[in-house]
Amino acid sequence: MARREAITAEPLARVVQRELGQNVFLCYQCLKCTSGCSLAEHFDLMPNQVMRSLQLGDERVLESKAIWLCASCQTCSTRCPQGLDIAGIMDVLRIEAKRRGLTPAIPEVDTFSKLFLYDIGLLGRLYEVGLMAGMNLATRRPLKDVDMGLEMMRRGKLRLVPTIVRPPRRVKPVKPAANQVAYFPGCSLHSSAAEYDHTVRTAARALGLALIEPPGWTCCGSSPAHSTDHVLATVLPMRTLATVEQMGLDTVTAPCSACFARMRAAAYTVMHDGEIAHMVEERIGYAYRGTVTVQHLLDTLVDRAGLDKIKANVKKPLTGLKVACYYGCLITRPPRITQAEHPEYPMKMDYLMRALGAEPVHWSCKTDCCGGALSLTQTPLALEMTRKILQNAHDCGADVVATVCPLCHVNLDARQSQIGLDFQIPVLYATQLMVLAFGLGAQAAALHKNLVDPRPALQARGLV
Ligand code: SF4
Ligand code: SF4
Ligand code: SF4
Repeated sequence: MARREAITAEPLARVVQRELGQNVFLCYQCLKCTSGCSLAEHFDLMPNQVMRSLQLGDERVLESKAIWLCASCQTCSTRCPQGLDIAGIMDVLRIEAKRRGLTPAIPEVDTFSKLFLYDIGLLGRLYEVGLMAGMNLATRRPLKDVDMGLEMMRRGKLRLVPTIVRPPRRVKPVKPAANQVAYFPGCSLHSSAAEYDHTVRTAARALGLALIEPPGWTCCGSSPAHSTDHVLATVLPMRTLATVEQMGLDTVTAPCSACFARMRAAAYTVMHDGEIAHMVEERIGYAYRGTVTVQHLLDTLVDRAGLDKIKANVKKPLTGLKVACYYGCLITRPPRITQAEHPEYPMKMDYLMRALGAEPVHWSCKTDCCGGALSLTQTPLALEMTRKILQNAHDCGADVVATVCPLCHVNLDARQSQIGLDFQIPVLYATQLMVLAFGLGAQAAALHKNLVDPRPALQARGLV
């Protein structure tokens, strides 16, 4: 029987085994997945109950809200003592529910995925304004987030005209040089995270890193792709990895956690699953050899450029600035894919802040999920998750939060006024703080682009 043939009556445990190679009968109901899930209290079936339903062959799990509310934060998959990929199983169940013609229990999540994939299918890259407007029309809430959108536009953070790109037919190899790294900015850095892109490039220049943007790169597909089609979720990032490999570059760095996670997962899949590798090769017309290392920008800065070089560039140390380093979920999880040494309490950004002269604080929410995947579809839930993160940073004495993900930044900074906190806390990209510490000034650090103005907090420490 062909692996991907439609078999409606097939038991769900077998569907999971076939699609993901996971044996749900290994689950012994320890509840670690449920106790670590920030969304479990909103689920109708807890993650461990989803697993039990699969063991019992209870197909009602396909009609549950849980499979649509899962934010793919990978906490459960990281903590399961049996090595079960519960987040991946949630994807399989969403895909299977749709294949069987069931109405999604949370239709907005499915609508979001469809609009997102339509957008990138048409344009190659995500058109953020179009996606927001499309979601507002589809959900009949035309004015949702209009204030936030206008404020972002005022600061030149939203691209009004879409970009249309296609992967290049022929790729020219670059002239090799030791300081070169392929740079995959991802859709957000060309739009809502313009200040991140600007400061990444400025900091890299100061450190002598040559960032080379692959020609015709296209969107990684993010959560909508892996929630919809496992092969498509691998094809989309592999297009760019194929370009980078043909350029002759051995490393690609991604400043967006979602891009990093998707590229890393796609490369892992292609190297470990011959059947999918073959399908990907047919779709992109290139047999990937696996010569490219996918790094998150944070790793590139700390490991490749190095803390010594970073320290040597500091002209205006961030003395006295207390920083809560927020890593989010996808830089370190799941460790099987990311190879992160400390997936639950990473320290690399803390070391970076220390090298800049700042004082990183210890806090509990470093790797908590901000609900990024639900930001446009279940906004109140995302705001509740973000509130916990910001409250914890504030309670632990942080002056500012530092992040290295454009999606986390939108939730923590642009949406902060929607949360109703009784304080404001600036949220900066780590690279904005680098540029500031390198003595290049507030303008070069693009501080005017942040929706929560960081200048008063920095002025109070004499840093701007
Ligand atoms: S953590 Fe793993 S073994 Fe424990 S209940 Fe969840 S799926 Fe089952
Ligand atoms: S991936 Fe995250 S949101 Fe989804 S079930 Fe696991 S812990 Fe919960
Ligand atoms: S935006 Fe960041 S923290 Fe939020 S869900 Fe995505 S990776 Fe996780």
